[in-house]
Amino acid sequence: MDPMRPRPARSRLYQHWRGKSRFYCAGRCITGGEGECPIACLGGLSCASLATWICILLPSALFFTVALPRLQRQNVSPLLLPSFLLLFSATVASLLATCCSDPGIIPPRRFVLATGSRTHLAELLGYDLLGPRGQEPCGDPCLDAASMVSEQLRAEGYRWCHTCQIVRPPRASHCKDCDHCVLRYDHHCPFVNNCVGQRNYHFFIIFTTVAIFLAIIVLPAILWTFSGSESEDEDSGTAGTSQGSWYRWAVLLGCVAVVVAALMLVMLWLYHLWLVFQGKTTKEHRRRLDLQSEPTLLGTRGPRLLRPLDFAAWSKDA
Ligand SMILES: [Zn+2]
Ligand SMILES: [Zn+2]
Repeated sequence: MDPMRPRPARSRLYQHWRGKSRFYCAGRCITGGEGECPIACLGGLSCASLATWICILLPSALFFTVALPRLQRQNVSPLLLPSFLLLFSATVASLLATCCSDPGIIPPRRFVLATGSRTHLAELLGYDLLGPRGQEPCGDPCLDAASMVSEQLRAEGYRWCHTCQIVRPPRASHCKDCDHCVLRYDHHCPFVNNCVGQRNYHFFIIFTTVAIFLAIIVLPAILWTFSGSESEDEDSGTAGTSQGSWYRWAVLLGCVAVVVAALMLVMLWLYHLWLVFQGKTTKEHRRRLDLQSEPTLLGTRGPRLLRPLDFAAWSKDA
């Protein structure tokens, strides 16, 4: 960038982000645009993503503190504890990675201009994101769609995004929940509060897979522990009291709700397994689009186009 160029405000890109996504850890983590849960102390978590964390953490805590000691007293397999710890760690890590990583965000026009990254992005993508050099969009979606995307690119499936004011690749799409375009957009998932796209699809598949295996270990053990006829709970010391009975019924009802959630997760996982074999994204399947040029799960993760820590020079109206 020209060092003599006036810079009215020079700061990190993420500090000026106006999309619905939110940045944390000084711009190193990005999560989606779901509305925050009304519980103020849980700032940043949406209600749906809070439900996801509850469905993982509460049953896991009950399994570890109540069900596992009882199973160990009955000499059930010594592999139970290491298997649980491995699956629990993998579930939490892959959920965090899906929630907080860049799904493949394509920076909107104003951010490309502010960071001076047009040439760099053109090298990464193989085409100019901002359209023909020297030509600016007029603001009319139809006119810009025709004038800002060359005929050759249009024939290959490249489209103009009127909101981001950029040319986006064939499998990319604009997420209305997050208000930006995402490379090989699959869907916006409220339960992880993030888009699922080219750069975090594998995290999403790993998360759904290990969460199912975690549920297979944890839920039957909790149901067995709390529904047994002899379940005088030696660990809680509430045996035979009405308080103990209520506690047991509350756990069982909660567990049934988590079992229903786990069954829905299994259906989602099977659907995505089918999509992976078809080489399609969720959006392509729903809209009956046939755009696949590379596999989804085993395809390349692609370049990171949004660099929130880049310094940017903003014009006064930015
Ligand atoms: Zn867009
Ligand atoms: Zn989104």
